[in-house]
Amino acid sequence: MAHTVQTDVVVVGSGPGGAGVVRDLTRAGKKVHVLEMGRDVPPLGTAFGGAMSYTGGLLGTLSMRQGVLLTGEMLTIMRGVTTGGSSMVYLGTAHDPDPEMWAPFGFDLKTEAEQRKQEIGVAPLPDELIGSGAHAVGKAAVDLGYDWTKLNKFVDPKKCVEDCNVCIYGCHHGAKWHARDWIMTAVSAGATLLNEHKCERVLTEGDRAIGVRVTERGGRSFDLHAPKIVLAAGGIGSPAILRNTGVTEAGRSLFFDPFVMTTGVFDAVQRPGAMMATGMHLKEEGILITDLQYPFLVMALQGVMAVKPSAIWRYRQSLPLMIKIRDEMTGTIDESLRVTKPLTRNDRDKLAEGKRIATKILEAAGAKEVWHSRIGAAHPGGTCAMGTVVDENLETRFKGLHVCDASVVPVPFGIPPTLTCLALSKRLARHLVGNGAS
Ligand SMILES: Cc1cc2nc3c(=O)[nH]c(=O)nc-3n(C[C@H](O)[C@H](O)[C@H](O)COP(=O)(O)OP(=O)(O)OC[C@H]3O[C@@H](n4cnc5c(N)ncnc54)[C@H](O)[C@@H]3O)c2cc1C
Ligand code: SF4
Repeated sequence: MAHTVQTDVVVVGSGPGGAGVVRDLTRAGKKVHVLEMGRDVPPLGTAFGGAMSYTGGLLGTLSMRQGVLLTGEMLTIMRGVTTGGSSMVYLGTAHDPDPEMWAPFGFDLKTEAEQRKQEIGVAPLPDELIGSGAHAVGKAAVDLGYDWTKLNKFVDPKKCVEDCNVCIYGCHHGAKWHARDWIMTAVSAGATLLNEHKCERVLTEGDRAIGVRVTERGGRSFDLHAPKIVLAAGGIGSPAILRNTGVTEAGRSLFFDPFVMTTGVFDAVQRPGAMMATGMHLKEEGILITDLQYPFLVMALQGVMAVKPSAIWRYRQSLPLMIKIRDEMTGTIDESLRVTKPLTRNDRDKLAEGKRIATKILEAAGAKEVWHSRIGAAHPGGTCAMGTVVDENLETRFKGLHVCDASVVPVPFGIPPTLTCLALSKRLARHLVGNGAS
C-alpha cells in the first residue's frame, strides 16, 4: 500500500447517479473525489473513436468484461465504462420515475425529477428533428388506436442537427446531455476526478464505512478515506463492490429490461431524424415501444447477428422499432461480474406480444417486410434493491455507505432509468448536505 488520501465524500462511478451527487455536493462546498474505472473520452460522435472507447476500447469491449457483458444464457448487456458512464451511449430519452415504485418507502421522486428536468432542459423534439419514418409510424399507431406520442428528451433542440442520428456514439454537437458535462463542471469547481481508478471494495470499521480501496491503472493500490462514500457504479458495478465488502445480499436480484428491434423495410427511403423521438408505454402490459433509427454500423451488426444481411443494403429504406419489456428480477451477479439472467416464460410472452404489436404498426405504415433482432439489454438494475440492501435514504447497513444508481430500484422496472437515477441523486445529495457530509 503506497499511500492514503483523505476527502469529504468519495463518489464511485460518474454516470447519471454519480454525476448528480457530485454536482450538488460540489455546489454545496464539499470536497468530492470521483473514482471512475474507465478512461475519459469526450463525446466524439463516431463509432470507433467514440462508442467503442466508451465501452472499454476494442480489447475491453471484446473481452466481454467491460462495456459489453455476456450472461450465462448468452445474452448481452451493454453499459458505458468511461466518464459519464452509460449516458455517453444512451439515446437521451427521459421518462418520469414511477411514483408507485417508491410509495412503500414514503416518497415519490416527483419534485426531484421536475427539478432535474429544469436543470437540463428536458422536452420533446420539434417535428423537423423527427424522421419521416417515425412520423409515418406514429400516424399508423394512432390510427390503430394506440397512444403514440413524442417522448421527452435530454436534448437541446437548438443544438440538435437534422438527420444526424448518432446519439449512441456520443453527441459532439453539444445537444444531448451527458453526465460527463456535470462531472467536468464539478471538476472546474474543485472536485477531483480520478480516471482509470477502480474501486475494489469499501473499507469498514465496525458498522461504519471509512474509505475505499482503489487500484490504479498499472496495478498500484491505495486507500481513499472519507466519512461518506457513495457507490454509483451502476447496476453491474455497485453490487460487485458491495459483495467484495461482505454485503452478500447484494447481486441476488437483477432486471435488465430486455429489448428486441423489429425492423420494417419500406419501398421508399426513410429520412432518419434523431434516435428514439416517439413511442408509447403500455404500463399495465410492461411493454415500451419506440422508433429507433440506428446509425448504419449498428444496424448492419444487428442484421448480421439476426442472419439478415439485407439490412446492410436496405438500410436507408428501413425503420426499426424498439420493444423493451419490464422483466422479472430473476438474475444474479457476483463479485467477479459473473451474470446469470434466465428469461421467464412471462418475459418471453411480453417480448412476443411487443413484436406482434410493432409488426402490426409497421405494416399499417406501409412496411413490405419485417424482421426481428436478437434479444439484448442495456438497463441493468435492481441489484442493490431498496428494502433489501439499502434503506429509504439509500444507506447500506454500514453507516456512511450509500448507493445511488439504477441498482437501488426495488421492483421490476421497464422504463428508461436516467431520470430516476438523477432524481435519486438529488434526494441523496440533499440528505447528505442536511446531515453534514464533511
Ligand atoms: C445503448 C444504451 C442506450 C440507452 N438509452 C437510454 C435512454 O434513452 N434513456 C435512459 O433513461 N436510459 C438509457 N440507457 C440507460 C442509462 O444510460 C443507464 O440506465 C444510466 O446511465 C444508469 O446510470 P447509473 O448511474 O446507474 O450507472 P452508469 O451510467 O452505468 O455509470 C456507472 C459508472 O461507474 C463506473 N464503474 C463501475 N464499476 C466501477 C468501479 N469498481 N470503480 C470505479 N468506477 C466504476 C463505470 O465505468 C460507469 O462509468 C441506455 C443505455 C445504453 C447502454
Ligand atoms: S441527433 Fe441530435 S442529440 Fe443525437 S447526436 Fe445528433 S445532434 Fe446530438
